[in-house]
Amino acid sequence: MLIVMDKSAGPEELAAVVERIEKYGWQAKPIPGGERTAIGVLRNKGPIDPALFLDMKGVRDVIPVSKPYKLVSREMHPEDTVVELKNGERSVTIGDGKLVLMAGPCAVESEGQALEIAHAVKEAGATIFRGGAFKPRSSPYSFQGLGIKGLEILAKVREETGLFIITEATDHEVLDLVEEYTDIIQIGTRNMQNYRLLRRAGQAKKPVLLKRGMWATMDEFFMAAEYIMSEGNSDVLLCERGIRTFTRHSRNTLDINAIPFIRAESHLPVVVDPSHAAGRRDQVIPLARAAAATGVDALLVEVHNHPEKAMSDGPQSLYPEQFAKMVAGIKDMNIPVK
Ligand code: PEP
Ligand code: MN
Repeated sequence: MLIVMDKSAGPEELAAVVERIEKYGWQAKPIPGGERTAIGVLRNKGPIDPALFLDMKGVRDVIPVSKPYKLVSREMHPEDTVVELKNGERSVTIGDGKLVLMAGPCAVESEGQALEIAHAVKEAGATIFRGGAFKPRSSPYSFQGLGIKGLEILAKVREETGLFIITEATDHEVLDLVEEYTDIIQIGTRNMQNYRLLRRAGQAKKPVLLKRGMWATMDEFFMAAEYIMSEGNSDVLLCERGIRTFTRHSRNTLDINAIPFIRAESHLPVVVDPSHAAGRRDQVIPLARAAAATGVDALLVEVHNHPEKAMSDGPQSLYPEQFAKMVAGIKDMNIPVK
């Protein structure tokens, strides 16, 4: 349930409502808006009688929230969330109408590789560099990432190029480390329902990009984001990266329908990863253009300077020149890019 306060309501009236919510054993989540504050009621087991709050001073309206996900839902938070990254003078916002480009290799392989790709994607218009230091691989014999060394390289990339960094946290221990180094913490597809990890990400002081599980329904996806937000982190980005279907012409199927659905249901920024959806280079640019046409807030794209020698996901990685073409093509569609 959402308790909407009068424009003129002051801190005392707000505090009285919070106190009453807590008296019933529920949790109050104040949501400041442009004009007025609303207070979300969480952790109630069943429906709440609006009359419990309608008579209070400063309360304008009481709106039931029908969805199981509360903090994630647009019902609770009608305005779009804008996530801001800051580093000294530099900042980038995600979710305010201009497309943000996140690009880089699947995995950080060496300092030279990361820096060369970072300079190239920056030149093409990216503001955020992606690269895995801890890789969740299907085979235990595949390259697992450079670990801490990879995080150090990412820090160097940030220092030298001014790009912000996104990298994946594969477990609790890694999340502690990643939180120190990165600007955005990525929670991968395989961990979308790792609820303890989601809670830990919710306690982090950095934004979280949550990838949709490869077989997750929208409710499951939203509830995973709710885990993060319920711990206090409201900077969550929802990333569609393709789901498993019966097709063989691509690694996964980009669920384009999910984009307008997420927009309608949630206020959180929407990101699309065309690389993992496609699994093959020739489909990445068309999928990126399709996603951009639906008005997503950011694209997360794998780019490698030598994809044929890449230690992971080479077949789906764009050459830097292709990435530059992709960006130019999107700009030609009159889509504003950051
Ligand atoms: C990745 O971004 O390299 C990755 C492993 O992605 P996903 O979790 O979508 O498979
Ligand atoms: Mn990858």
